[in-house]
Formats: sequence, structure tokens, C-alpha cells
Amino acid sequence: MEKTKNIQELLPGFNCRACGSRNCSEFSVKLEAGIANLGACPVLLQDRFQENKATLAEILNDYRGKKHQKPQGLIDGVQADFCLHPLLGESSCRETLACFSSAKLEEGQIIRYRPLGCPITHFGRIISINQGLLDVWVIGPCKLLGREESATNVGICMVLSFQGTIAGERPRVGQTVKFLPAHCMMGKVHSGIIVQLEDNRTRIDCIDLKVWEHCREF
Ligand code: SF4
Repeated sequence: MEKTKNIQELLPGFNCRACGSRNCSEFSVKLEAGIANLGACPVLLQDRFQENKATLAEILNDYRGKKHQKPQGLIDGVQADFCLHPLLGESSCRETLACFSSAKLEEGQIIRYRPLGCPITHFGRIISINQGLLDVWVIGPCKLLGREESATNVGICMVLSFQGTIAGERPRVGQTVKFLPAHCMMGKVHSGIIVQLEDNRTRIDCIDLKVWEHCREF
């Protein structure tokens, strides 16, 4: 808890939500849990915050190094194998959705959906539509974030895959993994199977919110 307070004191305090958290305090909790990284806060790029940023990096490296900490789910305390961050230059991990709505959808459109098994309503921007499957970036609730874009309600969707960047020890292709998507509002550990791996970029299929503790360690 003390560590979280130190981290929070070094953040800009703008509570602008650009990092995907509701405020700097929530972001500090995610940093400590290892499910967010400093690069998600664009305000820290400003010259006046360079010293804070360097100190934050030291604190987090030291903290994670000492604890050999694997990220832990906030909601259930389950230990994940790694945290999944967005692909380089993107604002959130990509999700591939099976969407059952008959609404006319196109690339760039914002959809409102609830992933099967998840109690949280999601908003996503469609990146591409391929053979009936949607690739989306998860974005924050448009109204809450002050954007005027409207969202098409498509009801329940099945999240089939995630694409992102692994922060932590690299798994193997074919391995069943437990991971924390950096944008997950619940801080919930997901499970899935690694089907593509290039450097630390990965695609994880068979996404499930149920996590099996007997998954074999490689
Ligand atoms: S982007 Fe930075 S300043 Fe804005 S809420 Fe997140 S941590 Fe705070």
C-alpha cells in the first residue's frame, strides 16, 4: 500500500484518463500490480515530468525485481504468467469477436458489447471484419470520456482471441497461459492458448475467463 502511495505521488495528478484508468490513483494500483506500464501515461512524456518518470521506473524495476512478481489479478488474486500490453503504437490489445448481431457493421465503427462471461460492458472500435469475425480495439466508454461518437449496441459477443505484446517471460506456442490484458477494467486474469509468437508479439486463442490452476508449467 505504501508503495502504491509513492507511485501515485509521482504521477502527474491530471486524472485525465488517457492511460485507460479512471484516475492517476487507479493507474498507480495497476502499475504496482504489473498490469500497466508507464508508457500508457502520455503526460509523463512532458519535460517537466522526466525526473518523476525516471524515479517511477526505478521504483517499479526495483519492486518487481525484488518480488520476482508475476502479475496478479485484482479481482480474484490469481497469478498470471504475464501481462498483455497493446501492440506497438496501439492504445489497447486487439480482440477478435464473434458477433451475433444483425446490425450492419463497418470498419471504424464503435460497438457496444458484453463479452460472454464478463459482467462489464465494453466499447470497441472495429479495425477489420474478416469472414464474419470482428477485430476491435477496446476503447473507453465514449460518453464518460467526453467523446461524442455513438456506439452500435451488438449485445453479447464471444471474445475468441487477443493480440498484443507480452510483458514478462515468453511462453511457447501451444502453451496454455494465464494472462492479464492491460486494459481489463476488472483486472481479471484470462486464460488461452498461444497460437502465434513473434518476438514478444502474440496471438492468444480460445479465450476464457475461467482459469484452471492445474495448467501445466513449462
Ligand atoms: S494518463 Fe497519466 S495523468 Fe492522465 S490519469 Fe492516467 S496516469 Fe493520470
